[in-house]
Amino acid sequence: MTDRVAVVGAGQMGNGIAHVFAQSGFRVMMIDVSREALDRGRAAIEKNIERQVKKGTIPPEEQGEILARIDLDVDLGRAADASLVVEAASEDKGLKFSIFSDLDRIANPEAVLATNTSSISITEIARRTRRPDKVVGMHFMNPVPVMKLVEIIRGLATSDATTEYVTDLSTRLGKTPVEVNDYPGFVSNRVLMPMINEAVYCLMEGVGKPEAIDQVMTLGMNHPMGPLALADLIGLDTCVAILEVLRDGLGDPKYRPCPLLKKYVAAGWLGRKSGRGFYTYSK
Ligand code: NAD
Repeated sequence: MTDRVAVVGAGQMGNGIAHVFAQSGFRVMMIDVSREALDRGRAAIEKNIERQVKKGTIPPEEQGEILARIDLDVDLGRAADASLVVEAASEDKGLKFSIFSDLDRIANPEAVLATNTSSISITEIARRTRRPDKVVGMHFMNPVPVMKLVEIIRGLATSDATTEYVTDLSTRLGKTPVEVNDYPGFVSNRVLMPMINEAVYCLMEGVGKPEAIDQVMTLGMNHPMGPLALADLIGLDTCVAILEVLRDGLGDPKYRPCPLLKKYVAAGWLGRKSGRGFYTYSK
């Protein structure tokens, strides 16, 4: 196996995934349609590595080496020589289908094609390729350099060999892989998103202010972060997209996104990444 990985999407997840692979010695090609997103992604990696150096979790001399292992490009064709591609583009079904059908043509026939989707069916994504046995979910958590879990999601056709390959890789990254099956939202977002949505309903109905809702959950339930602060971290657009997948995929209206959540997204209040969500953030 060559240690070459391509990451498609340089947003908050893509740059985190590129970071952890490069930190573990892999050569990484980070690809995005937007040059600005690539530059922002690289700057975020640089800042996060500096933070790790300050905390003493990586030696200072490795800072430059890790960054030097990451190349940037706007051309998906640069995924051709990777043995693993991890797709982390926006949470949009049509977009992911088209990326996977392109990747199937571009990537080495032996390469594994993984997606970091939060909710979209791995089985459906795999169907856009001629290698459904080599398509798998590799669901990293946010922020990627910090969070231990990688939810490994098997599509209906995912082979044992592919599952073992990404499970071993996740361990090499210092993460803890947990294998689950392909149903809408998998385990993580099937359980998390209804809680976030309910917190937004509490806000909409005036049950409490954002700070009060979050404090009840941090102090009362021992959650490290309240649900509204967590929604801001995930991105409110991503939360709406995941809830819509849960509602449509499971056919149950209980998953409908709260109107207030949709209103924030319509206003461009997407959480931390846009500077405003349930809270405001200085850039
Ligand atoms: P983001 O909005 O920060 O970044 C998405 C990036 O995808 C952008 O830079 C955009 O330019 C790029 N992109 C769009 N179309 C593309 C294309 N055709 N080719 C290449 N790049 C393209 O989003 P994010 O939060 O990083 O989420 C990315 C994926 O990770 C989504 O599937 C999301 O559901 C999943 N995810 C998100 C979180 C989270 O907490 N935000 C956690 C786990 C998984």
